[in-house]
Amino acid sequence: MEGGGGGYVRADKIDLKTLDQQLERHFSRAWTMEKKKEDSGGGSGSRSRRKKEEWEIDPGMLIIKGVIARGTFGTVHRGIYDGHDVAVKLLDWGEEWSRSESEIASLRVAFTQEVAVWHKLDHPNVTKFIGATVSRGDSTIQTEDGLLGMPNNACCVVVEYLPGGTLKSYLIKNRRRKLAFKVVVQIAIDIARGLSYLHSQKIVHRDVKTENMLLDKSRTVKIADFGVARVEAQNPNEMTGETGTLGYMAPEVLNDNPYNRKCDVYSFGICLWEIYCCDMPYPDLTFAEVSSAVIRQNLRPEIPKCCPSSLANVMKRCWDGNPEKRPEMDEVVTMLEAIDTSKGGGMIPPDQQPGCLCFHRSRGP
Ligand code: ATP
Repeated sequence: MEGGGGGYVRADKIDLKTLDQQLERHFSRAWTMEKKKEDSGGGSGSRSRRKKEEWEIDPGMLIIKGVIARGTFGTVHRGIYDGHDVAVKLLDWGEEWSRSESEIASLRVAFTQEVAVWHKLDHPNVTKFIGATVSRGDSTIQTEDGLLGMPNNACCVVVEYLPGGTLKSYLIKNRRRKLAFKVVVQIAIDIARGLSYLHSQKIVHRDVKTENMLLDKSRTVKIADFGVARVEAQNPNEMTGETGTLGYMAPEVLNDNPYNRKCDVYSFGICLWEIYCCDMPYPDLTFAEVSSAVIRQNLRPEIPKCCPSSLANVMKRCWDGNPEKRPEMDEVVTMLEAIDTSKGGGMIPPDQQPGCLCFHRSRGP
């Protein structure tokens, strides 16, 4: 979620060996502390008077189950909300990590921004946001083991559950065999439609990568993780700051220059290469080497010669060094929809490629 600077509590700073037990310990302690405050008149009785946010859910209707994944800034659980299968992102910036009041305030702003962006979105290629809650100390949460008090400042983001895992893990599974061309193009169209929708809503995702794409049970891809997404600034000079994931980051972002939605188009170009090749770009380069070569030498992943020019062109146009020359995402959707997938054209696995000439470097111009 949040890149450098502010953000959520990093999960690697938390001892998460036995999260369920820890949750119980932590929540019970916090519950007891909050209860004491309440009993001594310092409780959060103001909650009932507080205006409910549009996106706020009733924590009483949520059942939290086992951990699915440990993200950088918290844990993701399976859960049930109002009878529906959901994924629950659990973040806690409470007193346990002795954060200052101003830190807690900026974390709250970061969380509220993610939620404010996500809750308005509604598209088949964007993970559906269901709701969120920030506990003020008087909330309880239901786990499979019973009812627990939530610590002050803990927050939950509840979204639709997507059982197919991340696109990245799907590509890793297919690393040797590669994907059929029509599957490559279908996945690319899903992501392109999702991004085109976000851009039409003036949202820049800023961390487009295959790890942030999730698959549903019928392999439809949905964009997830709006931790660093922002409403596009009217004035591009207002949008700066290194964010995203190296390897996917556009030169202007790496260079700390002002940028706009075209940074997502660049990252999409890299994803497209990854989907076609079922591989990771720049496996042998360090972070510093990638940044410097992308900016100074126009380094891009090598496009295999077996890649049909219709798809290779989309990659090259999307990762153009000049953001203004990159297409808009709705144009990308049109280009991808026009690709003829009936005659194959999928990636030939390296051990079946003739000679060593299959790859050519896409250094330009
Ligand atoms: P990071 O910043 O490291 O990406 P994060 O805390 O922002 O992590 P997410 O990236 O949103 O968390 O999710 C972490 C993992 O949890 C995902 O890689 C995925 O495996 C799982 N996950 C997230 N959302 C869902 C969902 N809606 N359905 C199923 N699994 C999910």
